Amino acid sequence: MVRKTNIRDIVGTGPLGLGLCILVFVTFWKIDKVAGIACLYGDKVLHKVLAGLLLCAGGMIFYAAIRAMPISKHNKCLVRHGVYSYVRHPRYAAVVFLVYPAFALLVHSFLCLISTFAAYVIFKLSAVLEERKLIDVFGQDYKDYMKETPGFIPKIRRRQSTYKQFCDHPVQSIKLGWTQCFLLKCTGGYLLIDTSYPKYYSQFERKLANMGIEVSDIKYLLLTHHHDDHAGFAAELVRSTGCQVIAHRNAVFSLKQGKSEETIKPVNRRIRIVFSFYALFHKEFKFPPLRLSERDILIEGNNDIFLKGIGIDGVILHTPGHSKDSISVLLSDGSAFVGDAAMNFLRWTGVGHRPVYIEDIDTVYKSWLKLRERGAKVIYPSHGRLFSATELKARICTTNL
Ligand SMILES: [Zn+2]
Repeated sequence: MVRKTNIRDIVGTGPLGLGLCILVFVTFWKIDKVAGIACLYGDKVLHKVLAGLLLCAGGMIFYAAIRAMPISKHNKCLVRHGVYSYVRHPRYAAVVFLVYPAFALLVHSFLCLISTFAAYVIFKLSAVLEERKLIDVFGQDYKDYMKETPGFIPKIRRRQSTYKQFCDHPVQSIKLGWTQCFLLKCTGGYLLIDTSYPKYYSQFERKLANMGIEVSDIKYLLLTHHHDDHAGFAAELVRSTGCQVIAHRNAVFSLKQGKSEETIKPVNRRIRIVFSFYALFHKEFKFPPLRLSERDILIEGNNDIFLKGIGIDGVILHTPGHSKDSISVLLSDGSAFVGDAAMNFLRWTGVGHRPVYIEDIDTVYKSWLKLRERGAKVIYPSHGRLFSATELKARICTTNL
């Protein structure tokens, strides 16, 4: 039976989403104007150029989507080629990730740029409604398409990072959510630097298996600090492997409580705004408690001995500022695994390499200075990609220490 294509089939729930997005955009724009929240960093001409590029990219995706699925085919046949092979909703994705931010740049509004997240939620809901209908029409074919193709963000086949080109010591990284964990080869197995949120434990096991590593090969877990995105599944890992934990003495109480200390504050106003959105979905900074035992290793100050004893040519440095218990691993070749003592994350908010949340910024800079003085060359943060330690130097030089 040939189905008739009517106007609702063609437009789906998109116009409703678009209308809501325009409403959200205008609301945030007005709030930004009244509240006087500083406009975006950077040159306005640059914003316009960037907006132009985003609009062009958005237009091209729209054109490609219509070429792949002419209007007459809407809801009559399942199209999976062209842009539809990357994402199931290329037109919505183009609006959310390209057109919406382009308009935010055109009006130089920081709040409008942030509200892109709201646009994403709106279109995500639109897509859910639309897909219910598409499942009715195409049945299992559409369910298979959903399994194989992401909705909005194309899958990027990531190269497995080995960092061997920078680091003399065998090191591998595992990205779990927004936390980057590192595995260093040590005598008899591996030392793992940090875990992630508890929900990532099965993903962690899968990724390890893909690397040909057994969970039981992990002999040591070094926690750069106690926060939930670092110590999240530490208790489960210790339970299943019996690995020894290495942590700063200041972390003991919070690990036992299973709760991030509330002594940190956003490093600037923009981070405060960004994380106020995040807090809507992540209300509690709790994790399964981890009770350290006598066989675990507690660090006080710096420790130049322990790592060498397990076959890793490096030292553990106390690098507070983000939190009192922050420690870093510095290898003899200058590779520094710093946890949250420095970041390469949300830099568009003007944070530079500072942690987005801090206890004390001068202490952060003193820790950076310590890392530099002890020979750090490449910084491996837990959030964001590695970067040269000279970028910390620039910030240290502008600070009165
Ligand atoms: Zn942290």
